[in-house]
Amino acid sequence: MSRLWSRTTASLVPYVPGEQPQDRRYVKLNTNENPYPPSPAVEAALRAFDPAALRLYPDPESRALRAALAETYGVPAERIFVGNGSDEILAFAFQAFFDPDPAAPVLFPDVTYSFYPVYAGLYGVPFRTVPLDDAFAVPVDAFLAPCGGVVLPNPNAPTGRALPLSDLERIVAAHPDRAVVVDEAYVDFGCETALPLLDRYDNLLVVQTTSKARSLAGLRVGYAFGSRALVEGLERVRDSFNSYTVDRLAQSLAAASLSDPAWFEETRARIVGTRERTARRLEKLGFEVVPSTANFLFAKPPKLGGAGLYEALKERGILVRYFRKPRIDGYVRITVGTPEEMDALVVEVARLLGEAP
Ligand SMILES: *Cc1c(COP(=O)(O)O)cnc(C)c1O
Repeated sequence: MSRLWSRTTASLVPYVPGEQPQDRRYVKLNTNENPYPPSPAVEAALRAFDPAALRLYPDPESRALRAALAETYGVPAERIFVGNGSDEILAFAFQAFFDPDPAAPVLFPDVTYSFYPVYAGLYGVPFRTVPLDDAFAVPVDAFLAPCGGVVLPNPNAPTGRALPLSDLERIVAAHPDRAVVVDEAYVDFGCETALPLLDRYDNLLVVQTTSKARSLAGLRVGYAFGSRALVEGLERVRDSFNSYTVDRLAQSLAAASLSDPAWFEETRARIVGTRERTARRLEKLGFEVVPSTANFLFAKPPKLGGAGLYEALKERGILVRYFRKPRIDGYVRITVGTPEEMDALVVEVARLLGEAP
């Protein structure tokens, strides 16, 4: 606390990202990074990039990248917004679409991406959390209640559970005058995208990222699809804050990654295969594993507890994510790495539990 802080700054409870430790080499399964490198097309674009171009500001409208996204996803470029990671777009969305009206709180699940309450705090947006059921499924009917808007990751994080498109549509249709933000950070690992609903619902914003399935977490590029009204709302907030949120190199390399669908397909299929094999092995060791359509597994060990398993694995050089929070403190979230990394995980877990791997 400092006397120099504004009241807002003093009141913030900032997000705490997963560890990026420098003390030793870990098998790093804690921040849902992709274990495979980005497409070779990204490396080629990086080598071809002319540093002299950095003299100039980037295109504030990311036109070339939006054109590439339009082609990849079949959505017109004027309905696409590009941001400095999807986190930035989500923050802009809270400011652009939600009012500080206590009578109309924004809804999101009680167990979900922990950045949402942080954005709500930053922008003074009241919210109400909707409890997931005992199997961590989203109770669709509870999201139909009158509210100031909805934010829903699909699949949800950190559980990995997804809603089918028909359920998502009921939620979007229930709030024609409110923004419904669907955070599809993990959609490419086996869940249905909400993009087909865009033509029918002008209140739907679909947010995606290059950080997970495209192996570009270090580049910081996310994108959103929505009606012209929603995209213009995001543009208004951005252009009242920083016109150049996405730098030249990021625009160029993100576009390059879109040019190689074969790489994208192959790496995500590998991750899905490794996820399913790892889930079965953990179940054999007595874990309760939540069905996942993401690049991570949310799992409850038969003993040790979430904190105990996290600590013991960390000592052995394996990092997973543990959340000291109600309902989920018995669980760990394990990013799907390479088959070798998952072997190392299963071997250590079995040893800790006194079982054969
Ligand atoms: C990783 C993640 C993001 C953030 O992605 P960036 O594009 O890297 O900012 C957004 N939402 C959820 C649920 C995530 O897990």
